[in-house]
Amino acid sequence: MDSPDTLQRRGLMFILSSPSGAGKTTISHMLLKADSELRLSVSVTTRPIRPGEIDGQHYIFVDQPSFDAMVEDEHFLEWAHVFGHSYGTPKAQVKAGLREGRDFLFDIDWQGTQQLYQKLETDVVRVFLLPPSIDELRRRLTGRGTDSADVIQARMERARGEISHWDGYDYVVVNDDIDLCFAKVREILHAERMKRARQTGLIGFVRELMRD
Ligand code: ADP
Ligand code: 5GP
Repeated sequence: MDSPDTLQRRGLMFILSSPSGAGKTTISHMLLKADSELRLSVSVTTRPIRPGEIDGQHYIFVDQPSFDAMVEDEHFLEWAHVFGHSYGTPKAQVKAGLREGRDFLFDIDWQGTQQLYQKLETDVVRVFLLPPSIDELRRRLTGRGTDSADVIQARMERARGEISHWDGYDYVVVNDDIDLCFAKVREILHAERMKRARQTGLIGFVRELMRD
């Protein structure tokens, strides 16, 4: 008989969104490093590669005609235009992975979150990160050193619009102290794994318990 630790369960889709610069990439990396059961869903994008990014690891970088062909071929679970570029979540892997009990992390925006929720509501866990203040958001975008002043200004202008989607999420965490924020997000992941509906092995386990 399975012990409760090895009970079969269905995987989940863990979505982390935030206004650009609030820290979702940082928290995602910490989660992936700390949790070997979680794997990143690598998105396809038409935006130019940034220094330090690896094609196939951070994103799959393609040109617009290739992206459009993928949309046509129904390659994506969801896709959206963000900051003038196209981004999409590939369908392959995720659906089969969920059945096999694998968990996927999604670093996607609110539009993608809505689409995934409409398609796969019961598998989705939506977490939204907020910055502690607008000034701190600007400091983080500037300090990251990856974007020009124009791009930072555009991201700041979009931040209020992005923040307004906070109520489309199951959990909202303010990313003030990074370690505290990480601990909170990890607790959410752990608790969601234990949801009764996800523990597909429970029925058999409980039947055995009641027979003994
Ligand atoms: P996003 O992926 O949401 O655009 P990043 O994870 O790239 O944001 O974070 C933006 C910048 O802010 C990075 O330089 C990161 O190191 C820094 N950062 C993230 N979280 C914190 C935090 N809690 N305190 C201070 N700096 C942070
Ligand atoms: P960046 O270019 O800074 O990596 O990401 C810009 C925005 O696009 C972020 O808000 C990020 O969450 C979002 N994004 C990344 N991949 C996807 C995706 O596959 N689908 C959607 N809808 N948004 C994405």
